[in-house]
Amino acid sequence: MNEARRQNGQAAAPRVLIVEDEEALSLLLSYNLEAEGYVAERVARGDEAELRLLEGPPDLVILDWMLPGLSGLEVCRRLRARDATKTLPVIMLTARGEEGERVRGLSIGADDYVVKPFSLPELMARVRALLRRSRPERVAETLAAGDLLLDRATHRVRRAQRDIHLGPTEFRLLEFLMEKPGRVLSRAQLLDGVWGTAAEIDERTVDVHVGRLRKALSRGREADPIRTVRGAGYSFDERFGK
Ligand code: CA
Repeated sequence: MNEARRQNGQAAAPRVLIVEDEEALSLLLSYNLEAEGYVAERVARGDEAELRLLEGPPDLVILDWMLPGLSGLEVCRRLRARDATKTLPVIMLTARGEEGERVRGLSIGADDYVVKPFSLPELMARVRALLRRSRPERVAETLAAGDLLLDRATHRVRRAQRDIHLGPTEFRLLEFLMEKPGRVLSRAQLLDGVWGTAAEIDERTVDVHVGRLRKALSRGREADPIRTVRGAGYSFDERFGK
């Protein structure tokens, strides 16, 4: 792996297979995964997932428990039995009240499980954590642009050799923006990605946190890496540091 490419977060996009029969949830997951730079594929049935996995394994599977065709449990058991998918990271989605089943899920080889309804940022964090563990080269540990460096592992941010102290929300906001340089993100997208869809927060809260983030990042005449796009939202300036 080329270190410079990795630093810029340009490693080949990891592929995530979503196996979920709830159309709305499946779309929401794929939308958010793609926004974070993954390639998402969706299937709605367990037997379809089985066929898809036989064609060629993705980098990670998000697998619903209750599925038509073949249960998530059975899909997981079968993929673990094959060499090509023996170590494929699997996150199982279970409904509340199926806690006893979770133990079975983990015992047949799921790496992690998430109980519905879950927070999207939490699921995304688990996706990143699992990929980092299984294929460290596929998830950039650090995001860099110009003189700005964000280290996901240590949660440290540095600019021009000095430490930038950010609260957890500002850190996540910067990480979210830096993952998608040049892309304009609406306040609603930032709320979903940073605070989670379940959060009941006013969109103006986003402006407050962007303001704090800007204040922390730039000193004196230093360039502001965040662009305000009137009527649309914010983006991380892709020309920053160039
Ligand atoms: Ca289901």
